[in-house]
Amino acid sequence: MFSRPSWFRSTTFRLTLWNVVLYGILSFAAFTIAYGSLGAYLRQQIDLELLEEAEECKVIGQDNGTERLAAEFNRESQTIGPKKVFYRLLSPDGRLRFSSDMDSWRNLELDALPKPDAQPLLSTLHPANRKYGVRMVSQRIMDRQILQIGTTLRPYGRFMKRCQGIFSWTLAAMLGLGVPLAWLLAHRAMAGVNRVTWTAARIGRGDLSRRVPVGSEGQEIQALVEAFNDMLERIGVLVRELKEITDNVAHDLRTPITRIRGIAETTLTGVGGIEAYREMAAEVIEESDRLVNMVNATLEIAQADTGLARLKSETVDLCEIAREAKDLFEPVALDKNIDLVVETPACSVTVMADRTKVQRAVANLLDNALKYTPSAGKVELVVGTDKDQAHIKFTDSGVGVEPADLTRIFERFYRADKSRSTSGSGLGLSLARALIRAHGGDITVTSQPGKGSTFEIVLPLRPEHDETVISGSSPRNPH
Ligand code: ADP
Repeated sequence: MFSRPSWFRSTTFRLTLWNVVLYGILSFAAFTIAYGSLGAYLRQQIDLELLEEAEECKVIGQDNGTERLAAEFNRESQTIGPKKVFYRLLSPDGRLRFSSDMDSWRNLELDALPKPDAQPLLSTLHPANRKYGVRMVSQRIMDRQILQIGTTLRPYGRFMKRCQGIFSWTLAAMLGLGVPLAWLLAHRAMAGVNRVTWTAARIGRGDLSRRVPVGSEGQEIQALVEAFNDMLERIGVLVRELKEITDNVAHDLRTPITRIRGIAETTLTGVGGIEAYREMAAEVIEESDRLVNMVNATLEIAQADTGLARLKSETVDLCEIAREAKDLFEPVALDKNIDLVVETPACSVTVMADRTKVQRAVANLLDNALKYTPSAGKVELVVGTDKDQAHIKFTDSGVGVEPADLTRIFERFYRADKSRSTSGSGLGLSLARALIRAHGGDITVTSQPGKGSTFEIVLPLRPEHDETVISGSSPRNPH
């Protein structure tokens, strides 16, 4: 079967074709209009000259009589050329009275022409044996006699033919030049797209570091290049994230898995009673739960970090969240003899967020504050607003964080050395921060080793939030 060559299907070829067709149609239309206007102008000039000539003859006849008019006919005919012009005078009923040399005009059927009334009558004759037509004026002069003046349209016809030739050649030359020009333009317009394609092909071979250079082909191509580069940037982040997660998982999941394997081995080879086996089975369940929680937390962090997490947007009152968290962790605080205080403004501090995600972040920070504060210490939650932001501060009188660790504690699986004695996975802070950042907020920390730390969640206030009620000076509700 016939298959079209690939260049035929290319956009460059199609653009070129469209350009040439459009350019051709427009040029042809422009030439046709110019040609038509020129022809009309020249015909108008011929008519004006005929009418002027008729008027002149009328005046001569009236002033000097018919003899002088006949002499004028002959003189004009000889001057211009008897083949180019003729003059006739007919009686009112149409019989020829006299004329100029009519040898060259014999086969014109002049007597059959319609007779003019008061106004001069212009007409064109197209005799069969003549290549060019004859333009004529008939006019009543001197006692309703009829004057006829005719002129050949040969010079006009030849001039128009010449113009036609010039126009056709110019059009052909313009089209001939237009094809490579249109191709050049189409090629230039497609250069940006070709660059994107070329880079995409290189990336397809594994070179993710490549970016499409921004050219000067115009806004649309620039927007395409930028969108493509943004997409690459995002893919790069996702791939890096994936690699990091794989590394972390490989590193941090090995320990609990090894422990589970150890327990299983002991169960196989050991000689303990049913009670010992029960304990070991319980340990296996605990370690497995830890593993599942770690995997879930890791996935949740990755989703929040990469913007793939589906977040609800509901009105959330941070005061309510803080109070609920206090109720939830009160038993732990009591157990450790820690003074847990929540301070909120008199009214609500509302943000647009996913309630469960914010609850999760708050719980993680409060859990840490209680975990890293020794007994008889104090943990304080303060909810407030600052310009267009809402915040919850978690201040504890705990062990604090060393300056060297401050920048690292938000990394996945990172645990400061001091914390190794306490249980934990090193994922709580990174999950909390990823969730808050996904809402357009952030978590910051300040700490004094040995004295305590302050973690602060900052979230954008809900736009319609009534700031007049919740000002810094409004009364606070200690719980
Ligand atoms: P985990 O608590 O499970 O170790 P996190 O990601 O929640 O993991 O915290 C990371 C590390 O940050 C902790 O191991 C601890 O060293 C430090 N950290 C977090 N919160 C506090 C706090 N309130 N006081 C002191 N250190 C903290």
